Amino acid sequence: MASFSVNGRAYAAPSAPVVVVCVDGSEPGYIEAAVEAGMAPFFARVLREGTAIVGDCVVPTFTNPNNLSIVTGVSPAVHGICGNYFFDRESGTEVMMNDPRFLRVDTIFRAAQSAGSRIAVVTAKDKLRGLLGKGLDLGPGRACSFSSEKADQATVERNGIDDVLRLVGLPVPDVYSAGLSEFVFAAGVRLMESWRPDILYLSTTDYIQHKHAPGTPVANSFYAMMDSYLARLDALGCVIGLTADHGMNAKHDTAARPDIVFLQDVLDGWLGAGAARVILPITDPYVVHHGALGSFATAYLPEGVDIAAVLARLAALPGIEVALDRAAACRRFELPEDRMGDIVVVSSRHKVIGTSLSRHDLSGLKEPLRSHGGISEQGVPLVFNRRIALEPGRRYRNFDVFDLVMNRIAERIAA
Ligand SMILES: [Zn+2]
Repeated sequence: MASFSVNGRAYAAPSAPVVVVCVDGSEPGYIEAAVEAGMAPFFARVLREGTAIVGDCVVPTFTNPNNLSIVTGVSPAVHGICGNYFFDRESGTEVMMNDPRFLRVDTIFRAAQSAGSRIAVVTAKDKLRGLLGKGLDLGPGRACSFSSEKADQATVERNGIDDVLRLVGLPVPDVYSAGLSEFVFAAGVRLMESWRPDILYLSTTDYIQHKHAPGTPVANSFYAMMDSYLARLDALGCVIGLTADHGMNAKHDTAARPDIVFLQDVLDGWLGAGAARVILPITDPYVVHHGALGSFATAYLPEGVDIAAVLARLAALPGIEVALDRAAACRRFELPEDRMGDIVVVSSRHKVIGTSLSRHDLSGLKEPLRSHGGISEQGVPLVFNRRIALEPGRRYRNFDVFDLVMNRIAERIAA
């Protein structure tokens, strides 16, 4: 494959297969704890001999905005995906943003394919597949894009590959399981062994991180699983860059109850019932493990409301870290103004934002709530199995990962 440019960045032609891994919800500390427990020998070597730093992801610290930033190299202000939902004022409806038409730029994959490279994209949940695979010319030997969730339904026409279960040698995992992520890694290894794509992107699910803190036995086992597959990709000669879409924090009180600011109820009390409309962009069809509770919300306010006064009252509420108007929030967090409400509200490290008490079904929450979405989940690992030539003092983002793994390998720069 040749070098290529996309979204204002140039990428050098790789000399070895490039593997970028987005470990969903991988708060800094998970990898280190598994290494300390002696359960992750590959990561131990990488921390010693490769490069490992903490960078910043995109706020809202949610899955889709960050996966799309990683695979485009730009912020949501440019690519347009700022959550799972936005409110369309014109139609007065809440619109799911996982349709590829909402993505405003080309992906690195599409540009790389145009330059002659072979692409493989494997995600845990199917909701991301369409966005990540947008514009790819799918087909055997060219590109494939599939999810572990719907691995059994993969077709050459839709996914560029079929018979995925036979390739991977595992059954379709349950959508709420560690197996959903293991399948992603197992598929990645088999793809690399069988047709050696030039670029392989693996994106997991944060099912484990939502339930288990860094250093706990289940978390360590999960990272040990990951370690064994990454070691195999490393042995196959791949250059690996690993990052996360967001971190993860405990979001409960001392009695292990979720610690929630019900923003719709608050605004209903101030402005009248239903006058404001709160959107929680974390909401998606798979809410069992977080009850649709995250640390970021946007709200649409009725005409004529004194926005500055509302923001001042919100900022004074316990548990609210930041309340900004649309323009200020989009500047600070690099978000698209046309897909955000009039105000943006971010809760503090151990608090989440809900709509109304009556609208959240928390019966699926079996463990004390851990979640994300806020500024407090912005730190994410950037880990490489090669030494990366970093620029001193620069703020690195998770969406620099392709640039770092393709352009900044120290031994290639020196050569
Ligand atoms: Zn995520």
